Amino acid sequence: MIILKSRREIDIMKKAGKIVAMTLEKIQKAIRPGITTAELDRIAEDFIKSSGAYPTFKGYRGFPAAICTSVNEEVVHGIPGLRVLKDGDIISIDVGASFQGYNGDAARTFIVGSADEKAVDLIETTKESFFQGLVFAKQDFRLSDISHAIQTYVEKRGYSVVRDYVGHGIGRKMHEDPQIPNFGPPHRGPRLKAGMTLAIEPMVNAGGYEVYTLKNRWTVVTKDGSLSAHYENTVLITESEPEILTML
Ligand code: MG
Repeated sequence: MIILKSRREIDIMKKAGKIVAMTLEKIQKAIRPGITTAELDRIAEDFIKSSGAYPTFKGYRGFPAAICTSVNEEVVHGIPGLRVLKDGDIISIDVGASFQGYNGDAARTFIVGSADEKAVDLIETTKESFFQGLVFAKQDFRLSDISHAIQTYVEKRGYSVVRDYVGHGIGRKMHEDPQIPNFGPPHRGPRLKAGMTLAIEPMVNAGGYEVYTLKNRWTVVTKDGSLSAHYENTVLITESEPEILTML
């Protein structure tokens, strides 16, 4: 069942989303060669808590940190730790914040130090695929119109979309109905309605779409070792244009 949010709930979700966006900005500023992923996690946790929110991921099904830090061939759910970032790495940062009982969720992929052309193109394509999907995040389109637009754009650019992980509704719970795949035929699934809040999150691999999970039971990596990028925002469906709740 897809939960439509009231005006009051949307106002709180906007605040949660803003905290997420500001956290991502803080992390972006801190990313440089030589910093560890644990240091980025500390910055995020301190900032989220100082904003009166809680880092949603911490303790979620036992996840041990405040944010996910996924480097290079890591797709999602990387665990912050002693890994030192190197010049030319790419790192996907996924942030969730719970504020007054409601959640915001967003992800970005950043370049560490100097940019490799191929990595930049992958990251830009992933971001743009989100906005291609967003075109259909409007009343009376159907859910898979978003999915189809994302897949079409990504594959036209020669990349692949991850199948095993998908976007989701979000609100009181981080993961609500519906699931939002980043692939599939158009014109399927529920019709979109004002008041729906959706985390749309393409995960894009430079090589094949297959992934597997490391022995730490969290970190998802590409099967072929190719680079992967992630871009996510929490989006409100309205009676006109969609509103992105996790951008400043
Ligand atoms: Mg998400």
